[in-house]
Amino acid sequence: MAGFPDSEAQRRDSTTPKSSLPNQEEPSAPLTGTVLAVQANYYRVQLDVPVVGTPPQPHPLASEETLLCTRRARLKKIGQQVMVGDRVRVEEPDWAGKRGAISEVLPRESELSRPPIANVNQILLIFALAEPDLEPYQLSRFLVKAESTGIAFHLCLSKQDLVSAEEQTEWRDRLRQWGYEPLFMSIHSSQGFDDLRSLLNDRMTVISGPSGVGKSSLINALIPALDLRVGAVSGKLGRGRHTTRHVELFELPTGGLLADTPGFNQPTLTCTPEELASYFPETRHRLETEVCQFSDCLHIDEPNCVVRGDWERYEHYLEFLQEAIDRQMALHEQATPDDSIKVKANRQGQQRYEPRLEAKKYRRVSRKTQQQQLRQLYQDGE
Ligand code: GDP
Ligand code: ZN
Repeated sequence: MAGFPDSEAQRRDSTTPKSSLPNQEEPSAPLTGTVLAVQANYYRVQLDVPVVGTPPQPHPLASEETLLCTRRARLKKIGQQVMVGDRVRVEEPDWAGKRGAISEVLPRESELSRPPIANVNQILLIFALAEPDLEPYQLSRFLVKAESTGIAFHLCLSKQDLVSAEEQTEWRDRLRQWGYEPLFMSIHSSQGFDDLRSLLNDRMTVISGPSGVGKSSLINALIPALDLRVGAVSGKLGRGRHTTRHVELFELPTGGLLADTPGFNQPTLTCTPEELASYFPETRHRLETEVCQFSDCLHIDEPNCVVRGDWERYEHYLEFLQEAIDRQMALHEQATPDDSIKVKANRQGQQRYEPRLEAKKYRRVSRKTQQQQLRQLYQDGE
């Protein structure tokens, strides 16, 4: 099974002599590796380093050997895509030319679509404490997005050097109420930076967060050699996150891989209205011990709802819920043939298209909602 085991036994033995690197004495032994970058029809694959005396196996993420690979025709034929992060088998290595061919993609443990990357172990969500100001609503949006991937994540608050200890305490207390324990960090302070570095060891991590929070600075601080590499663009898989758009995994000197997401400030939430509440730790925890009267409660204004109420991010929840409902409706509209859509004039005399099923599903909760738009969306169908 593909994976990135943490166990000490499988960790790279730093005393491994270079001559025992990728199975040169045993050409028949299967070679495995991780795809670091994909561009056109080429894949840069970091080979696993077998621990001396053990058969080749999935390996923590550190190696010195990378091969530029093509994809076997057989994989193309069966439509098998190869993604960054994929664990693959490599055949016919040409050690001198540093070439090879991917013959198999091992089963994926996870798959992110933005950025497109497989087998990520964790997401590192970075927000700055200042410059730019920490915006709670925007942070909530990123948190919900991260929660919805199902992949473990850490929240890191950067630029710690720019705010007072009191302000940090305020944020810590506030975020604890939200259900998160942030890691405070500055690229200028050793403590936070070292804690962060150890979180990344031997893991495959995707860094996410708005622009300007210090993601590039952090990556450069973690991988000092990267700046040099950025300058030295060459060959088909020329590196350089500033000059190309492709997703790429960077190797951490201490072991582990790091991918950067393009800076985006407003990630799109793609979850369903029903899922949303589970992406807020506050409600998730409530719902572990209590239940709403209605099993399909959307926690708007239903009677005997245990979620609605006095928690800070309830307002965020309502906003995101609105978005999720709108999205659901739009998707349904796209997928529904014309004859299953009712056309109704609303009170302003405008025609609106209403997918029947969806409207029915959400109608009960929409009646008394304080959200004007929600009310409009469903009233027409009653
Ligand atoms: P990105 O857009 O998230 O990649 O952010 P950058 O790495 O480009 O950083 C944006 C700005 O924040 C730059 O001027 C950095 O020098 C600055 N910066 C990054 N990390 C820190 C930090 O820990 N403390 C302070 N004071 N500034 C930082
Ligand atoms: Zn409820």
